[in-house]
Order: sequence, then C-alpha cells, then structure tokens
Amino acid sequence: MTTQDKLNKVSHSDIKEYRGKLLDWYDAHAREVPWRIKSGQATDPYKVWLSEIMCQQTTVQAVKAYYTKFLKLWPTVQGLANAHNDEVMAAWAGLGYYARARNLHKCAQIVTNDYGGKFPDNETDLKNLPGIGDYTAAAITAIAFNKPATVVDGNVERVIARFFAIEDPLPHAKKILKSHAALFFEGFAGRPGDLAQSFMDLGAGVCIPKAPRCSLCPLQEHCLGFANNIAAELPRKIKSKTRPQKYGHIYWIKNPAGQILFEKRPAKGLLGGMSALPTSDWSIDKIDCIHNFKLKKSIDEKVTHTFTHFDLELTLHHAHAPNTNLEGGYFWDKPENQGEAMPSVFQKAFKILNKNNP
Ligand code: SF4
Repeated sequence: MTTQDKLNKVSHSDIKEYRGKLLDWYDAHAREVPWRIKSGQATDPYKVWLSEIMCQQTTVQAVKAYYTKFLKLWPTVQGLANAHNDEVMAAWAGLGYYARARNLHKCAQIVTNDYGGKFPDNETDLKNLPGIGDYTAAAITAIAFNKPATVVDGNVERVIARFFAIEDPLPHAKKILKSHAALFFEGFAGRPGDLAQSFMDLGAGVCIPKAPRCSLCPLQEHCLGFANNIAAELPRKIKSKTRPQKYGHIYWIKNPAGQILFEKRPAKGLLGGMSALPTSDWSIDKIDCIHNFKLKKSIDEKVTHTFTHFDLELTLHHAHAPNTNLEGGYFWDKPENQGEAMPSVFQKAFKILNKNNP
C-alpha cells in the first residue's frame, strides 16, 4: 500500500477517535515542565516563545534551568528587549546554537518596538520574526493562542511515521509526514495547544527513538508501524556522511594583575558574539601553533567537542601576551567574570587551563 493509499483510507471519524484517545492520555500523563500552565490559567505568548526557542535542538531537561533563569532576569519581552546583548549571550552560554540567542534578542526588540510588546497570533506574521521557522510559528499559534496549526517537530515526525508506517526516508519524507500530521491538526479548534503538546509528550516519553514503548501507547491498536512490527525502524533516514575532524589551539594568557586575555568572537559565524578564550583557526589539518602569542607551557590533556557539522580537538597552552598592541576583540578580565559566560567548548578548556594555572 502506498502512503497515499493509507492516507485515503483514514476517515475523519477515525482521526477524531485517535485524537480523543491521545488527548485523554495527555490529560493523565502530561509532562511537568515549567512553561506549562495549569488548566484555567491564561497563556503568556512570551513564555511559550521563550521555551520553544530554547527547546530547538536541545532537550527539555537541559532547557529547564535556562528558562527559569531567563524569566527571573527578564520577566517580560520588553525587559529582554532592553537587556544588553552581552548579558543575553552570557545568560545563554552553555545552551549551544548561539544564533538562537542572537535571534531571540532581536526578536524581543522587534516585538517590543514594532508590535507594542504583543506577539502576533498567526503563523505568517510569526514567521517574519527572527529565529521563528515553520515549526515554532505553528507551536506558538497553537499553544499560546489556542488556534489550529499543524505542529511538526522531530517527535511528531517519529510518531506520525510509525503510526502510518511511512517508510519513505527523511529528509525527503518531511512533506508526506506533514500532510499526515495535518489530518490530526488542521481545523481542530477544540484544544490545538494540548494536541500539539500531547504529540510532543508521546514522542518524548513513549514513542521514543530506538525502542518505542508501545505497551504504554494510547494509539497502539491503530498503529500500522506496531502492527507491521517495523515501528523501531521508523522513521527511516538517509545515512548522513560522517562529520569531519578539526583541530586547533587555545591560549591562556595572564597579565601581572591576574587578569586573563579573552576574545569577543565576531558577530557572524560559529559561536558569534560570544566571549571566548583566544583560539587559532579550526582546521581539518593538524596545524602548528601559529599565533603570535609566545608559548609558555602546553597541557597534555586535550579538549574534544562535537558540533553539528564537525568534531573538534583542541590543544591547550599557557602563553605570554605579545609585546604589540592587541587588535580585534581582545579584552582583559578576571577569570571568574567570564568563566561561565563562554560557550561549552571554551568552558571545558577554561576549567583545565585554570586548574593548571602556572
Ligand atoms: Fe509509537 Fe508504538 Fe504508539 Fe505506534 S504504538 S505510535 S510505534 S509508541
């Protein structure tokens, strides 16, 4: 049976039944996360937006503390808009994918200045804001404004692929998966926000990646992936190429006042706009230490880090500052002021270098 045949076979009353089962399950088993409101409370689009941006490419578990910290620092979108960019980047440090933090701040400023502090309530206008793509616009529309929207993230894709036994591989299958998800979402004005979150929770806790826990699933008796015993293999994916390995050097340079040399990375590019320790280029060749810092001592322990597109191995050095004036984004600061304001890869290096501080 082709995926189109499967689609044609599903009736509206079937979908109504499946949706009802899913929502009943959600009422009993919804995850407790800080951004979920209690029944009867009004939603705050600022909080929904903040949580959705933070959860992009990051686990809910990792996001919880950052979400609470941001709301304490900036309880409103106007407060966030008026913060200094450095403060926002420092508060985000460790959460990764730093373009999200830059866009978060820009978006808060646009919502404050152009929309009077109120997030737009439709997908089209939301998608015009920085950092908001198809998924996030749909999630905000459904969860913050309780309006119908087809909300499809990785969790929902997995549930849909298994439920309809769609074997076309990702990423090509994205459109097919979305059209199947739309059967559940489109025009459903009853509880659109809860429906989106019920799919997300099912994907995160029951229909999990490697070994789905089908015995706990409210959709089991209708699930084609389960019936055909192929659920765990879905969604299929086109094999990605292995990530290249890159290498580089990091420097710890101390002045007589006990301050350390830091660098503000250029606004554009990887980890842009973040505070960092001075580093060489990162290259697929094992490059020599070609910086004009004079090396004092190299550390045996290396730092390794995995980015989306490459793996990185860094060699760490204590060094002397050059006699020449330092140009670019360099600045001196006490180590304790910057230690936690840097992205994770620099924090790893910082800890080792600080421990071995000569
Ligand atoms: Fe996923 Fe299993 Fe539920 Fe199907 S029955 S949706 S595979 S958890």
